[in-house]
Amino acid sequence: MQHSSTYRMRVKENLRITAPECRDTVVKLTLEPVNGKLSSFLPGQFVLIGLPGLDDPAPGYFAMASAPDHPEVFEFYIKDAGPLSSYLCNIEVGRQLEVEGPMGRGFDLRPFKGDDVCLIGVGTGIAPLHSVCLNIVRHRQDYGRVVIFAGFLTEMHQLLTDELEELAKYDIEVSVSLEMGHDSWDGPIGYVQHALEADGLDGSHAVACLAGMSAMVDACTQTLQNLGFDDSRILLNH
Ligand SMILES: Cc1cc2nc3c(=O)[nH]c(=O)nc-3n(C[C@H](O)[C@H](O)[C@H](O)COP(=O)(O)OP(=O)(O)OC[C@H]3O[C@@H](n4cnc5c(N)ncnc54)[C@H](O)[C@@H]3O)c2cc1C
Repeated sequence: MQHSSTYRMRVKENLRITAPECRDTVVKLTLEPVNGKLSSFLPGQFVLIGLPGLDDPAPGYFAMASAPDHPEVFEFYIKDAGPLSSYLCNIEVGRQLEVEGPMGRGFDLRPFKGDDVCLIGVGTGIAPLHSVCLNIVRHRQDYGRVVIFAGFLTEMHQLLTDELEELAKYDIEVSVSLEMGHDSWDGPIGYVQHALEADGLDGSHAVACLAGMSAMVDACTQTLQNLGFDDSRILLNH
């Protein structure tokens, strides 16, 4: 999308993703335009969501998890973390919201055709990376190895499990790290940067996209630099 616009959007679906026994609530929120069409956006871009006519709770930024080309809806993964996100996690189907955007740099992989792609995210940071993957699937032959390193607190906190499994069909490797694992967990246990380090990607022919909390972004940036990634090959979406 070239220009940021303000849309009135309606809640089409609001699904709780985290298990009922999980203390954290994350929902998948699907919004459709009330009038007109949505324009395409760059994977990784986000919007500012607010309540029509109200400043409280204040509007907040949320990244689209859905496909960026000719979208009919925007899909978001929203964690209940404060006043606005709590409102959105509990919003009823049919309610309207004000949506400004898309905005941010997004993850523009077009200059990196032919290279390997490494996507690294934790928690709801997986959302914009899913949008990147949906875009890669449409141009899969343009890239070499594609691997997503996802990190969650526990098995109960995993997001987009089916969606990530689906990516295997398109030769996209998925590594899920749990910060707190258990005996029957056969994936990596620890922080996502440890799985990244163990993989040993060659940074001279790869590009990395990072999404998540700033401590994770800082730690992964360090790891990527150690793997030989130049700063121009470490992308952030904002
Ligand atoms: C570019 C960008 C994209 C974002 N995309 C998403 C997204 O796709 N999904 C999403 O849920 N949030 C996303 N956020 C965070 C979101 O904008 C809000 O900050 C969050 O929903 C909390 O806002 P609040 O008003 O409810 O509570 P606040 O009172 O503003 O925040 C409550 C506390 O929660 C912490 N917090 C905020 N978000 C998270 C989180 N996801 N996990 C853990 N702690 C958190 C804050 O640091 C703060 O301490 C994004 C933020 C930015 C800047």
